[in-house]
Amino acid sequence: MSLESVWKNCLNFIKDNIQDQAYKTWFEPIQPIKLDENILSIQVPSKFFYEWLEEHYVKLLKIALTKELGKDAKLVYIIKMENYFGSPKSFTEKIPSDYKPKMKSQKIEGSSSYFKNELTNPFIIPGIQNLKIDSQLNPNYNFNNFLEGDSNRLARSAGYAVSNRPGGTSFNPLLIFGGVGLGKTHLANAIGINIKQKFPDKTVLYISAEKFTQQYIESVKKNNRNDFIHFYQLIDILIIDDVQFFSGKSGTQDVFFHIFNHLHQNGKQVVLTSDKAPVDMQEIEQRLLSRFKWGLSAELQTPNYETRISIIKNKLSRDGVEMDDEIIFYVAKHIKTNVRELEGAIISLMAQSSFNRKNITIDLAKVIVEKFVKNTNKEISIDHIQKVVSDYFQMDVMTLQSKTRKRHIVQARQLAMFFSKKFTKASLASIGTKIGRRDHATVLHACKTVDNLAFTDKQFRKYVDDLNKKFSD
Ligand code: ADP
Ligand code: MG
Repeated sequence: MSLESVWKNCLNFIKDNIQDQAYKTWFEPIQPIKLDENILSIQVPSKFFYEWLEEHYVKLLKIALTKELGKDAKLVYIIKMENYFGSPKSFTEKIPSDYKPKMKSQKIEGSSSYFKNELTNPFIIPGIQNLKIDSQLNPNYNFNNFLEGDSNRLARSAGYAVSNRPGGTSFNPLLIFGGVGLGKTHLANAIGINIKQKFPDKTVLYISAEKFTQQYIESVKKNNRNDFIHFYQLIDILIIDDVQFFSGKSGTQDVFFHIFNHLHQNGKQVVLTSDKAPVDMQEIEQRLLSRFKWGLSAELQTPNYETRISIIKNKLSRDGVEMDDEIIFYVAKHIKTNVRELEGAIISLMAQSSFNRKNITIDLAKVIVEKFVKNTNKEISIDHIQKVVSDYFQMDVMTLQSKTRKRHIVQARQLAMFFSKKFTKASLASIGTKIGRRDHATVLHACKTVDNLAFTDKQFRKYVDDLNKKFSD
């Protein structure tokens, strides 16, 4: 009986008994390390991982192991420590006490060099004893001026619940997602501001994923990655805006993963925003995606006509400007993409009229709205195109991008490439990269194929027409 064969048999058994995704997430990363008679040692990536296994899969592991090694089988976890910055002491304390020791013993390996370092923290404002962190929140973005509508009710009320009991709801993390200009940043700030008001002692930090990434890179350069991590582990409410920015940045994802785990385990609240739903996020590691899905993902959708009207009215009244209902209705009717556009149109209306000392008339509104609508149409992104095409063919974006040669999927992919060429300024190469990492020749071929098929194949022609309509709506 070798270590490998024992572990392999265990895995086979486990695989048959749990969902594929769970197997991939929790069992594939495990390394068998040692087999000593009836004691199997396995290495897990983190303490968190170990806790998860213990909590959810211990029975299964036990059965699998007993089958292989008999009823006295024992399992030893070894925690890979390179990436782990928690306190080993708290580790020992956290071992579930109700668990029968027959099966388990534990051991920590790795270096804890971090603890020898002094806590010179570049991210704390010097000279201040207690942890005082500027929360970087924008006071203009609060709940009062975040108008409620069908499009945002779930996200808004979840945000509100979180700010009443940060870390104490099952909305942890709270992930707010939706397209540009739909209020993600506003809502994320509102949560932070509300928490600051209700719990002045809590440390709240709002940061964009981009800035987080820059800080991280900087910390690696300056050799104080640990301080960076330590700093973030001190936060009570961490709000990270636009996490899609982490795509493809594995170092940042890794460090965020550890920070996230630490905060989550300690009952701290994490709020994230993203321009995509977790299922559509690309080049984000599976383990991180699975964390994103733990809490609640709440979508911000495009506001409906009534909500658009109330948003405009609210903005006008805050700015002390009056406008005829007719004009408000006109703007609300024609600008439907997002709230930022809506505000933009109102602001330029006000600016135009004061600049030219003209009254705001419906004609002026028409001119301005037209400009806005045109601009919006130009701004179709490759991501958007992939989403629309996948939706149309009822598949997800991942399938569209996959390597499969199945005809209908290939066609969907080719259509996405074709429309990306048609509607964006992106180069063939960058279209290829975005649509499942193809090269420019593949994209060129796709465009030609679509042209040909649209000409020769009636059904295909219909796809192209339907999609064309969707993009010019
Ligand atoms: P995102 O981060 O999703 O791109 P923002 O939060 O920056 O969008 O919102 C764009 C603009 O629209 C901001 O000025 C914001 O105040 C405003 N806005 C968005 N949603 C609402 C809402 N429900 N009520 C009032 N203003 C909103
Ligand atoms: Mg934003």
